[in-house]
Amino acid sequence: MVKVVKFGGSSLASAEQFKKVGNIIRAEESRKYVVPSAPGKRFDDDTKVTDMLYKCYAEAEAGKNIEKPLKAIKERYNEIIKGLKLKLSLDEQFETIKKQFESKAGKDYAASRGEYLNGIIMANYLGYEFIDAATVICFDKNGEFDAEKTNTVMSARLAKTKNAVVPGFYGAMPDGTVKTFSRGGSDVTGSIVARALKADVYENWTDVSGFLAADPRIVKNPKPITIITYKELRELSYMGASVLHESAIFPVRKEGIPINIRNTNAPEDPGTMIVETTCVKPECIITGIAGKKDFVSISIDKDMMNSEIGFGRKVLQVFEDNGISFEHMPSGIDTMTVFVHQDEFMEKEQKVLAELHRAVKPDVLELEPDLALIAVVGRGMKNSTGIAASIFTALAKAKINIKMIDQGSSELNIIIGVRNRYFEDAIKTIYGVFVAEEK
Ligand code: ASP
Repeated sequence: MVKVVKFGGSSLASAEQFKKVGNIIRAEESRKYVVPSAPGKRFDDDTKVTDMLYKCYAEAEAGKNIEKPLKAIKERYNEIIKGLKLKLSLDEQFETIKKQFESKAGKDYAASRGEYLNGIIMANYLGYEFIDAATVICFDKNGEFDAEKTNTVMSARLAKTKNAVVPGFYGAMPDGTVKTFSRGGSDVTGSIVARALKADVYENWTDVSGFLAADPRIVKNPKPITIITYKELRELSYMGASVLHESAIFPVRKEGIPINIRNTNAPEDPGTMIVETTCVKPECIITGIAGKKDFVSISIDKDMMNSEIGFGRKVLQVFEDNGISFEHMPSGIDTMTVFVHQDEFMEKEQKVLAELHRAVKPDVLELEPDLALIAVVGRGMKNSTGIAASIFTALAKAKINIKMIDQGSSELNIIIGVRNRYFEDAIKTIYGVFVAEEK
C-alpha cells in the first residue's frame, strides 16, 4: 500500500505542528511520499510564509534593502528547526535566496521558496529523500502545466526512491525558470505525485475534518460529508466550498485514486473520501449545498426569437468578445437570460449592452443585479422523485422568491437563483429540508 500525504500550511506552521505531522506519518508505513506546503498561520492574525516571501520580493524589486524581511522569514524556519532539535542549517539556502531576490529571479521563484525550505526541513526530520519539485514538475515554455511530461519525469524519478519529500506549489519551465501553480497549489502537487506513483490513496491533511454539507458560517453544525464523488465535489468547489484547490482532482482522477481529506489536529476523524463513483448512498439524498453571491442577469426579449436561427450564438459572442464567461442561460420562447459575475460585467456594462443591441436588436433588455446562485448537489437525486418539489415548497413557505432554476441533465445538481439578501436564508431552508438540524 502506498499513500501520498500532503500537509497544508497550518499543519506545518510550527515545530508543534510538525511533530503532529511526524506522528501521523510514522503511524503508517504506507505514508512514504510527503508533499509539504510552506508554513502557514500559527494564530489568526499571523502571516503565512508565502505572503512574507511575496512582500519581501516586492521590496527587492523596488530596490529596497531586504535584510530585515528575509531575516524574519529565516526566523520562522529556525524556530521550527530548533523546536524539532534538528542539526540543520539553512544559511547556505538563504544566501542563495538573497542573491536571487536581488537579481530579480521572479515572483514565482520567491513564493516557491516557502515550500522548498519546508521540504528540506521535512526530509531532514523524517530521514526521507528530498526531491526539488523544479526537477519533476514541468511547465511548458508558456508557463502552462505539462501534465503528461510531468507524469513521465515524476514516475521515473520516484521509481528510484523508497520514500521522499516533494515540496508543493511549484515546478519549472524548460529553461529552468521556477513557476508556481495558483495559490493553494500544493494540493495539485500532491495529486500529481499520487498519479505518478499510482498510489492507493492521496491523503490531504488540513485543519478541518473534511467537507461539510453546508457552510458552517450559515448553517449551525452542518453534517460532515463522509464520501463524495469527484463530480459532486467539482460542483460544490466551483460554488465556493473551498477545502481543496479546484484543480487538485484532475491528476488523481486519471488513475481513479481516491482523495482522503483529513485533519492534522484530529487524526482520528475519518474525514471525507473523494472517489470516482460509489454505491454508498448519501445519508440524506443531497450531498451538499454551496453558493455564491453577486451575479447579474441580463434578460433579452424579442418577439419570434425562437425562430431566429443563430440568436443564442450572437448573444454569447458578445460576452465572449468582452472576455466575460457566462454561468447559466435559462431561456423561454421569446426570452433568454444570461447570468454572469457582477464584478466582471460591471466594468464593461454599457459596452456589452450596446453590442447586444447591435448584434440581435432586442425588443427589451433588462438587467437585474445582486443575485445569488445556490447549488444543491447530490448523486442521490438521480431518479428520485419529489426533490425539486420539496426544495421549492420549503422556499415558498419561507417566502423566498426564486429568480432562476436550472437542473442539468445529469440530475447531479439543481441550481437556484435568489436575491443576494435571501442567500443565507435560502441555504438554511434547503438544508433543513434534507437534514434535520442537530441541536
Ligand atoms: N503556500 C502556497 C499558498 O499559500 C501554496 C499552498 O499552500 O498550497 O498559497
